[in-house]
Amino acid sequence: MFLAFLNPLLAPVRAFLRLKLHWQIFIALAAGALAGGAVKVGGGADATVPVFDFIGQMFLRALKMIIVPLIASSIITGVLGVGSARKLGRLGGKTFLYYMVTSLFAILTGLLLANLIRPGIIGGEAASARLHLDAEKAAEFATKTSGRGLGSLVEIFVRMVPENPIRAAADGQILALIFFCLLFGFAVSGMTGEKGRTLKIFFEGFFDAMMRLTQIVISFAPLGVFGLIAKTTAMTGFDSFLPLGKYFITVVLALGIHFFLTLPLLLFVFGRIRPARQYRAMAPALLTAFSTSSSSATLPLTMQCMEKRAGVSNQTSSFVLPLGATVNMDGTALYECVAVMFIAQAYGFNMSFTVQFIVVITALLASIGAAGIPSAGLVMIAIILNALNWPLEGMGLILVVDRPLDMMRTTVNVFSDSCGAALIARSEGEVLEYEGRGA
Ligand code: ASP
Repeated sequence: MFLAFLNPLLAPVRAFLRLKLHWQIFIALAAGALAGGAVKVGGGADATVPVFDFIGQMFLRALKMIIVPLIASSIITGVLGVGSARKLGRLGGKTFLYYMVTSLFAILTGLLLANLIRPGIIGGEAASARLHLDAEKAAEFATKTSGRGLGSLVEIFVRMVPENPIRAAADGQILALIFFCLLFGFAVSGMTGEKGRTLKIFFEGFFDAMMRLTQIVISFAPLGVFGLIAKTTAMTGFDSFLPLGKYFITVVLALGIHFFLTLPLLLFVFGRIRPARQYRAMAPALLTAFSTSSSSATLPLTMQCMEKRAGVSNQTSSFVLPLGATVNMDGTALYECVAVMFIAQAYGFNMSFTVQFIVVITALLASIGAAGIPSAGLVMIAIILNALNWPLEGMGLILVVDRPLDMMRTTVNVFSDSCGAALIARSEGEVLEYEGRGA
């Protein structure tokens, strides 16, 4: 072949594409930082920054493109997974309670650490200048949010009920869309006969298709991350990493507290289950969650671990876990809260109690609405920022360190689902056999 001389050049590209996605992204991240840093030091920003920006923006837009259909199909299939309306009774109530309580614990942990560590404040000042946030825009948004009172909080709940679900979807009012889809799923789950089955199959197929489409978009994440980080470093140098490092540590610490303290305590106090047994039983699923960044992809393993290695009945696990993979995301909820607080601090917004309360509620709803796939939580940040009328540009920042955080929060999400299954099984009188050793 006359193009054979290209082979040595293409070999590294092929080797790169053969790597696991998270390695690709780590490499892209480093390469983006280096490229941006080189531009910053060597000059040429005028020519290169628009190119970096173009790449980053294409990826961000593609992520936004999939939000509406992905959420609609994921919520509806999640509710349908519960089964008949009758089955939603006692088990549903317990599951719902567990999901809400643990997610709230997680969010409050995040909120506490974000207030203590204040990742968006560097040297006593809002980090927006270092992060190259638009100062004018920041000031404009600061005035917008300073007058926020209880009215806007109530409004969020009012706006959750869409007058027109199609318009809500078209306008990107995701909370309204989630509300409609929850009710719709509930209505369909009550339908018996062929019509109900047909609808169920349709939405399951739709959800599968959306998962595939999302995979395609996510496979461009290395490029997107490269563009975004290269732009940031080309414009600001490495200054932006100090606040980002603080943000990263805040999220990791908060996730650690939830994973190693809160959830094990709940297991022990309410289920008399030794946490070490739960970790051991769940190890394969937790590792899968870490490397795939997807609760949904991990679901088969989670179910298998809980049934085969912890002795939870199939009836409980098949009810609690699939719903959990879509609805219960403690790690994501915590992450949403810290990320939004970080952006707010970086912009120098005054975080009144009411505003923080709105952050907690929207973080909870966003974690419910996030699909169990890579980067779903990141996309959800846009919703919270929208709900608060805050600048979406903040998202570009946190995207840079999203992947490693995604791996960790997904692990927490999956572990929380499994703790829910174990606790609910115990409360239903099941005897758990952790690999034949009892609880
Ligand atoms: N990747 C997470 C999950 O699948 C969702 C998220 O992005 O936070 O659980």
